[in-house]
Amino acid sequence: MNIPIIPETANSVRTTCPYCGVGCGVRATVHANGTTDISGDTQHPANAGRLCVKGSALDETIGRDGRLLYPHMRDSITGNLRRTSWDQALDTVAQGFSDIIKRHGPDAVAFYVSGQLLTEDYYIANKLMKGYIGSANIDTNSRLCMSSAVAGHKRAFGADLVPVCYEDLELADLVVLTGSNTAWCHPVLFQRIAKIRETRPAMKLVVIDPRRTATCELADLHLPVRAGTDVWLFNGLLHYLSQHGKTDAAFVAAHTNGLDEALATAAASSADPLTVAKICKVDVRDLLAFYELFASTEKVVSAFSQGVNQSSAGTDKVNSIINCHLLSGRIGRPGMGPFSITGQPNAMGGREVGGLANMLAAHMDLDNPAHRQTVQTFWNAPRIADKPGLKAVDLFHAIEQGKVKAVWIMATNPVVSLPDADQVQRALAQCELVVVSDITEKTDTNACAHVLLPALGWGEKDGTVTNSERRISRQRPFLPPPGEARADWQILCDVAQRMGFDGFRYQSVHEIFDEHARLTARDNTATNSGKQPRLLNLSGLCGMGKARFDAMQPVQWPVMPAAHDEPRGTQRLFTDHHFAHPDGRARFIPTAPRTPKNMPDQDYPLSLNTGRVRDQWHTMTRSGKSPKLNNHISESFIDMHPQDALLCGVREGGLARVSSPWGAMVARVQHGGGIPRGSIFVPIHWNNQSASDARIGAVVNPVVDPVSGEPEFKHTPVRVEEFPVSWHGFILSRHDLALGEIAHWSRIQGRALTRYELAGRNQIGHHGQWARQLFGIHDPDADWLEYEDKTAGMYRAVHIRDDRIESCLFLSPRPDLPSRTWLASLFAKDLLEEADRIGLLIGQPIEKGIDTGPTICSCFGVGRNTICDIIRQQNITSVTQVTSCLKAGGNCGSCVPEIKKLLELTMAEATES
Ligand code: SF4
Repeated sequence: MNIPIIPETANSVRTTCPYCGVGCGVRATVHANGTTDISGDTQHPANAGRLCVKGSALDETIGRDGRLLYPHMRDSITGNLRRTSWDQALDTVAQGFSDIIKRHGPDAVAFYVSGQLLTEDYYIANKLMKGYIGSANIDTNSRLCMSSAVAGHKRAFGADLVPVCYEDLELADLVVLTGSNTAWCHPVLFQRIAKIRETRPAMKLVVIDPRRTATCELADLHLPVRAGTDVWLFNGLLHYLSQHGKTDAAFVAAHTNGLDEALATAAASSADPLTVAKICKVDVRDLLAFYELFASTEKVVSAFSQGVNQSSAGTDKVNSIINCHLLSGRIGRPGMGPFSITGQPNAMGGREVGGLANMLAAHMDLDNPAHRQTVQTFWNAPRIADKPGLKAVDLFHAIEQGKVKAVWIMATNPVVSLPDADQVQRALAQCELVVVSDITEKTDTNACAHVLLPALGWGEKDGTVTNSERRISRQRPFLPPPGEARADWQILCDVAQRMGFDGFRYQSVHEIFDEHARLTARDNTATNSGKQPRLLNLSGLCGMGKARFDAMQPVQWPVMPAAHDEPRGTQRLFTDHHFAHPDGRARFIPTAPRTPKNMPDQDYPLSLNTGRVRDQWHTMTRSGKSPKLNNHISESFIDMHPQDALLCGVREGGLARVSSPWGAMVARVQHGGGIPRGSIFVPIHWNNQSASDARIGAVVNPVVDPVSGEPEFKHTPVRVEEFPVSWHGFILSRHDLALGEIAHWSRIQGRALTRYELAGRNQIGHHGQWARQLFGIHDPDADWLEYEDKTAGMYRAVHIRDDRIESCLFLSPRPDLPSRTWLASLFAKDLLEEADRIGLLIGQPIEKGIDTGPTICSCFGVGRNTICDIIRQQNITSVTQVTSCLKAGGNCGSCVPEIKKLLELTMAEATES
C-alpha cells in the first residue's frame, strides 16, 4: 500500500494509541488554547484512520487532574506520603535495593512491570535486572494476558513468533475467534473484519465463547462452549481433519514433527463428536458444522485472546489450535494461520526485549549458555541471570513469605489486577521496600508504596511499541512533561547509576532503541550445526540517528537492511516453512485435556468469568477520567442467568456479593442475556478508587498454567448472595463530596459533574438535614427543592444556585431510580426552566423524548431510548438506517453489535404488540 507520508507539523503529531494490542495510529493536534484534537492516523496500516471509542476519547484522559506530579516518600512518623526531591527519592531507591542485594543476594529484589511501558523502558528495566543486578526477577502484567500464547508459540515454532498479519483476517474465507470478544476488546480489528464481510458476504465468522458477546452479533455460528473445554473441541477438530483426509501430508512430512503422538492424544479424548459436544455443552450439529467448515475452507485464520490464554490449561489450548493449522498446512500463506491477539499496546515489545521472568532479551533464552554469553558481552554486564525468575503470581507470594524484600512496580496496579488481589495487598503491606512509578496519584497499589515516582504518560513519552502483528510504531510526545514527571527509562537509568552501574548513560531514547536493534542482530546467523537464526532481527533499523528515529514509519519485524533508505519489514512469517526449532521443523504438541483446577461445588456452585467492557481500560486510571467513556457502563456488574439469580435470591438491579475462598466483592446484578446457566461474568476494571468494594481480582483463584504461569481468570468457583441494604440512591454534584460511611458506593466522573451511586444499611434519620450536610449547605435561604414521601421512603432534593443546578440527591427503598442521563443533561443548562424544576420534583422529565437513556454510541452520545424510539417511529429495519438517522454507529462502529441487538428487540416487541 503506497500511502503518501504527511509530515509532522509543530502542532500535529503522529503517534500510537496506548490501549489495546491493535496498536492504532493516532494523529494528535494541539491547539493554541491548549486543547487537543485526536483523530485516527490515515497513514497507519493497522487502522487506516479508524479509532474505536477509547482511542477517540483520548483527549479526555490527558489532563493533569489526578496526575502524580512529584516524587513522594512515606513519612516514617506519620505514615503518610509526603513530597520529596528526585535526588532523595532516587537515592532511597538505589540505596534500598543495594542494601537488600548485599544482605540477601540479587534474588531478594524484583521488578513488576507492564505492557504499558514503551520498548525502551522495558529494555532498560530488563538490562538492569538481568545483566547488572543479576537476577531474572522481572515479570510483567503481560503475564496475565498472553504468556500462554508465548509458551504455545515457543513449543510449536521454537520461538515466540506470531505468523500472521491483520491483512490475513481480511483475506481469510473463514475467521474463527476463540475466547475473544473482539468487538469490544479489539474494536478496530473487528471493524476491519466487519467491513470486509460487507464486500465478501461468503466469508464466514465463527465465534467460540461461553458468553454470547457483542462479537457474536455478527457471527455465522456461535459455539457457546463450557468454560475450560476448548482443548476437547480443538482435539476433536484435529481428529476430524485426520479422519476426513483434510491434511497437508507433504507439509506435515517435510516441516513438522510429533504428529502421531498429538493425534493419538486427540483421539483418546475427542474421537467421538457426540462426546465432545456433551463435554463442551454445545449442539453436536453446530460442532460438526464448524468442523466441516474448517475442513473445507483453505483460508482460515484462528484468532484467539484472553479466553484461551487465561486458563490453567492456556498453553495447551494455544497448541491445540496451532496443531490444527499445522495438520492442514495452513500457515505461512496469505489469509491463514493461528493468530494471538495481544491485550496491551506493547505486550509484544516487552517480549522482544525479554520483559518476562523466563526470557533473556532479543528472543534469546536464559537456559542457553551461548545466549547468556552473547547478551552479557553485548551489555558489557558484570553478571547475567542464569535461571528463570519469579513469575507474577509466585513473585507476590515470595514477597509475602519475605523471600523478596524489595519490589519496584512500574505502570501497573497489581492490587487490583492480580488474582487473589488481597494477598497482593498483604504482601506489599509487609514488604521492606515498595517503589511504585506511575502517572496517577491515587491507585490501590500506590497506597502501599514507600516511594512514589512520577512517570510520563501517553502524549508525553517517547519511544516505540509493537502491536499484535509484529508492527513497531512510534509513540511520540506532543505535551510537555507535567510537574516533575520523568520517562520510565530515565528513572531506571538514574537509579542504575546511583547503584554504581555503568552502561546506563543514554542521552536520548533513540540510543536505547538502537542498542536493542543491534542486540537482535548480534550473533544472529544460522550455524553449520543446523541451528536457525533468530527471526526477531532488527538489523534494518540499526544505526538510526535521532532524526531517522523520529521519522520512523510503522514496520513489521523482522526488519532487514534494504538497498535503499527504507528498511524492509516482513508481513508474515514461515513463508518458507522454516521454523525456529534447531531442525527448522514445527512441533505438534500432544494436548491431553483437563478441567480447570478448582471446580464449582456445593459451597461455590457458580463459575466466575472475568473480562473487559467496551469503553474501559484495565483499572480505569485513564479511561475512568473520560465522561464519554463512563456513560456506556457506569458501574461494575454481575451478569448472570435469571434462573441462577432466582436460586441465589438476588434481583436484577439489586446489589449482590460475589465470594470465593479467596475474597469477595459487591456489584449490581444484571441479566445481559449472554450468560449460560452456572456462570457469571464480572468486569475487571473497578477498584477501591472508583467503588467501595468492586475489585474482582480479590475473588479470582490464584491458579496458574504450569507452563506459562498465566492465571486462570476465566474460571473461579464462586457463590452469589444478596447484599442487603435498606435504601438506594444517587447524587449528581458539581463538586467532589466526602461521603462518610456508606455500605456501598461507586464514583463516576461525568462532564462537569461527579455522580455517586449509593446504597445504605442504616436508616437516615432526617433526610433534609443529611442532604444539606452532605452538600455543605448552611444557608437556610438556599434555593432548595425538596420532596419527601415518608410512607414510601422516597426522598428527592435539588440545590440550585443562580438558576443552575448545583447538586441533586434521589433516595428510594428500591434501586429503580430516575434517569441519570436526563438529570446529567440538566447540568449542561445555564438556566433551569420551570418544566425542569417540575421534572426534578416529580422525578422524571415532563417532556417526552428528553430522557435519551443509557449511552449506546459514545462517539455521538446517542442513548438507548433515542435509538429505540427512532426504530419504532420510522419502522427501521437495519443498522445502516439507524446510522443515517442518528449517526450512531457511524464513527468507530464499536456500538454496531449493540444497535443490532436493540433493532432485533424493538422489532420483536413491535411484532408481539
Ligand atoms: S482498537 Fe481502539 S483501543 Fe485498540 S489501539 Fe485501536 S483505538 Fe486504541
